[in-house]
Amino acid sequence: MAPGFVDVHTHDDRLLLSNREMTPKLSQGVTTVITGNCGVSLAPLQIQQPPPPLDLLGGTEWYRFADFATYLAEVERKPPAINAVPLVGHSTLRVGAMDDPTRPAREAEIRRMKEQLRAALAAGAAGLSSGLYYPISRPAPIAEVAALAEELPAFEGIYTTHMRDEGDQVLASLEETFKTGRRAQVPVVISHLKCASPKVWGTSDQVLDRIEAARRQQAVGFDVYPYDAASTVLLPELIEVSKRVLVTWSRSHPEAAGRELSEIAAEWGRTPVEAAERLGPGGAVYFIINHHQLEVGGMGGRLKPMSS
Ligand SMILES: [Zn+2]
Repeated sequence: MAPGFVDVHTHDDRLLLSNREMTPKLSQGVTTVITGNCGVSLAPLQIQQPPPPLDLLGGTEWYRFADFATYLAEVERKPPAINAVPLVGHSTLRVGAMDDPTRPAREAEIRRMKEQLRAALAAGAAGLSSGLYYPISRPAPIAEVAALAEELPAFEGIYTTHMRDEGDQVLASLEETFKTGRRAQVPVVISHLKCASPKVWGTSDQVLDRIEAARRQQAVGFDVYPYDAASTVLLPELIEVSKRVLVTWSRSHPEAAGRELSEIAAEWGRTPVEAAERLGPGGAVYFIINHHQLEVGGMGGRLKPMSS
């Protein structure tokens, strides 16, 4: 016998509608999912061709909810087999409020995003997530994210973040995360904490020390990430720092799914980055974490490195 698991980091926004049995989760004992992570939520946004990484959740027909309440009503119309705790994605808000998300948001756009976020929180969203690593949100400065996060305390919402840099600049990203939390006076959760580039392999002790120090002044949590690979959309900058890249999906070459990027590149007589550009839009699993990074543990006690 085991209690139901809470899957704290998911992108199940669409699955709640497309597979209401929630088979992939329920079959693993998961009874609650937190959705809308990494800046990516299905609502509030109406768009035909969502830019990466929003396309992680699905294409053309899925981004059809002008406001969060409409999305929640659609979920509740035929309730899924498990519970959901939805977050609102910063990238989703940006794409909805800005004509060009590759720049910082202007004041009127921030106002629009704040209105949308407030309405979503009033409708039942649990907080705000950001994905500052991704090109469509990378240009957002702390001021923009903190301005949105300031809407959270009134609803006891939380702020979760896929940080700007989990590799060479992971320590600077931690500071940014803490600062955003302090400015907005909100609890922050660092998503899938890891040290994701050869330069920072072996620094998980420093990362945990910084988090412990910050916790003396503010509420900070993180998701333990017990893998040596990461999965996301095809991004050229992740290819060179990865030991291996496994293609998971490709819109232009569906037959590439499940294959090694290096093999495809060799067949095409291209570099892996060129091959990825040809495969995109698509997704991949990147082996970017040193096995000994699996030391990352909870605040109460650090896990021993796994023997390999
Ligand atoms: Zn993420």
